[in-house]
Amino acid sequence: MKTSIVGFPRIGEHRELKFQTEKYFRQEISEEELLTFAKALRQKHWQTIKQAGIEEIPSNDFSFYDQTLDTAVLFNIIPEEVAKLPFTDLERYFALARGYQGEKGDVKARPMKKWFNTNYHYLVPKFEKNTQVKLTGRKIFAEYQEAKALGIQTRPVLVGPFTLLSLAEYEAGCVAEDFVPDLIQSYREVLLELAKLGAQWVQLDEPALVKDLAEKEKALLTTLYQALLEENLGIKVLVQTYFGDVRDVYEILTHLPIDGLGLDFVEGKETLRLVQSGFPKDKILYAGIVNGKNIWRNDYTKTVELIKQLPVEQLVLTTSCSLLHVPYTVENETFAADITAHLAFAKEKLGELVDLATILTSKHQIEQLIQNQTLFANNRIEKNLKVQQAVDALQPNDFIRQPAFAQREKLQKAKFQFPLLPTTTIGSFPQTKEVKQKRAQFNRGDITEQAYEAFVQAKINEWLAWQSEIGLDVLVHGEFERNDMVEYFGQNLAGYLFSQNGWVQSYGTRGVKPPIIWGDIYRKAPITVKWSSYAQQQTKQYVKGMLTGPVTILNWSFPREDISLRESTLQLALAIQEEVLDLEANGIEIIQIDEAALREKLPLRQSDWFSEYLDWAIPAFRLVHSKVKPTTQIHTHMCYSEFTDIIEAIDAMDADVISFEASRSNLTILDELQAKHFQTQVGPGVYDIHSPRIPSVAEITETITKILSKVPKEKVWINPDCGLKTRGEKETKASLQHLTQAARLVREEL
Ligand code: GLN
Ligand code: ZN
Repeated sequence: MKTSIVGFPRIGEHRELKFQTEKYFRQEISEEELLTFAKALRQKHWQTIKQAGIEEIPSNDFSFYDQTLDTAVLFNIIPEEVAKLPFTDLERYFALARGYQGEKGDVKARPMKKWFNTNYHYLVPKFEKNTQVKLTGRKIFAEYQEAKALGIQTRPVLVGPFTLLSLAEYEAGCVAEDFVPDLIQSYREVLLELAKLGAQWVQLDEPALVKDLAEKEKALLTTLYQALLEENLGIKVLVQTYFGDVRDVYEILTHLPIDGLGLDFVEGKETLRLVQSGFPKDKILYAGIVNGKNIWRNDYTKTVELIKQLPVEQLVLTTSCSLLHVPYTVENETFAADITAHLAFAKEKLGELVDLATILTSKHQIEQLIQNQTLFANNRIEKNLKVQQAVDALQPNDFIRQPAFAQREKLQKAKFQFPLLPTTTIGSFPQTKEVKQKRAQFNRGDITEQAYEAFVQAKINEWLAWQSEIGLDVLVHGEFERNDMVEYFGQNLAGYLFSQNGWVQSYGTRGVKPPIIWGDIYRKAPITVKWSSYAQQQTKQYVKGMLTGPVTILNWSFPREDISLRESTLQLALAIQEEVLDLEANGIEIIQIDEAALREKLPLRQSDWFSEYLDWAIPAFRLVHSKVKPTTQIHTHMCYSEFTDIIEAIDAMDADVISFEASRSNLTILDELQAKHFQTQVGPGVYDIHSPRIPSVAEITETITKILSKVPKEKVWINPDCGLKTRGEKETKASLQHLTQAARLVREEL
């Protein structure tokens, strides 16, 4: 029985790729130095996988930024405005990813969206009427050859044509079908060339196949693959799916002239049933049985039982999705042994696959199985009865804030007396080197708590004064005391574990370090009250309290698997509710509860949206703020504007104000807000914060005008897309100055 993986983390054991790439951005190393570094990193990863005993190893799963962008660039799918600028290949690549402002031109970054139901983000390819799809890239070939030169035969990976077309954006006047012939021709050329170079297999990633698919889409899938595989290209093709099951196209897939089919047995609720209904003898099943998204040890007994139920002759054991979504290794952690025993990061998962293959082919009871059985036989944690009782005691009224929105809105308008188009920010200000250094010093014990607090207070004062000066209406304290919006809360909640090194790529060079929910959750002590009330005491203007909501905390943690996500979320909601009430009691009259990641775990199939997720996620948010006074203004924030399809659910969160990222995706959401009579006041972000580019006053004015053409002016707030912690101070200040100027200009016209 063979073993494989769908993909491996590429940022490096210690996020080396991030640091080198950022050095390149700052022009501290050359393009060549960056390329050389990346090559060594790829080598290390291939060798690690090989040494673990995995037989089929992927290549081209490496990326400097994003694999979807890589695929677009491979096929010359580059918007005209970027294509025409005099860049080197690498410069053009990063200009697409991050935008560019300099002597060679001024272009915005491509829009970025969440990769299915993960916290990874991909760059949206754009097909324009004039896009000439053709094979122009070399990366996939170069990386295959690189591995081959090391004596490692790999299976190059590429985003498949169906997923590429379904994730892309199209210029008005063109549709996916227009590009099919050229796209297929280009994929064929890739496959032919890989075959020529000696590759035996290619992997086409098609996660888009786990969604609900219409007849038209099924037809497109058939067209694409029949055309692609019309003749023998001399290379075997693995169609790899993940993040769910392929119930809508299982029939089609099993009849395609492909050689391998990768299916997800972890998230795919129907995968087992589908395979049991019959699997073609001429194909290899790549069974995704080791969870590529969570960090818990695989339960070997269960997995072996599952595999034994598969009526399949040719089987390869693999991960449920790319290991991109888990950290590199447990080896660099300092947990106690009885905790470590329960954890498996990417490297450990390689070992699990090999163990499972051994167990499945051996006639004897082998040691790995016995050890694993012992681990799962014991209770991992002791339950906290108080927490469990509090969750059980919840009543319907606990989820409803009184009075209703319309009445609160009146009371709040009368109380706050903000001008039209009130301006604010999303919470964080730049986490400069200095800020991070001070926190590190404090954590190491190099400076006293008083010294650290005095430093944070000084930062708060500095930025409060600056915000007033440029005329922002609602101020923030700047979140200088926080490392990130989830870990910070987790550290102040019982039930959490933190890794030292458990970084996972979020987008480009950005990583997140999701904390681990280990046990039942409760608030140990007040979390943000000290900072928020300090800030509020320094100024007569309103300062927003700043919290992370329960759904986001859950979605950005590694969740438990022994209780439901709903139950974990309600535990979190009760803890954050205590914090909200504490802030209110301490004089904070506007409280923002971020639900940046609310959409992230929305099931990929629409039929599951409510029953499996929104039915508890939205109430969990309401629980957090249901007990505040009518005149306490509750804000929330989301990191995307893609909620056109769940707009009623978002309104049902019953916040008073919601801000969301809008400028990097187009403003189509506004039509929907209008059509659905969205009641919550809205702050669609007026500029992109993922890029160092500074928006001009004219640009922002234009965006505000667009917003006002769709949303009643009484409902509109003006703010950036998201928090500013990743930005430099200079660009932040210039951008926000432009924002307040633009808001004033538009106000004068109203
Ligand atoms: N309040 C957070 C901040 O400003 C929100 C971050 C986010 O939405 N990702 O950083
Ligand atoms: Zn955000």
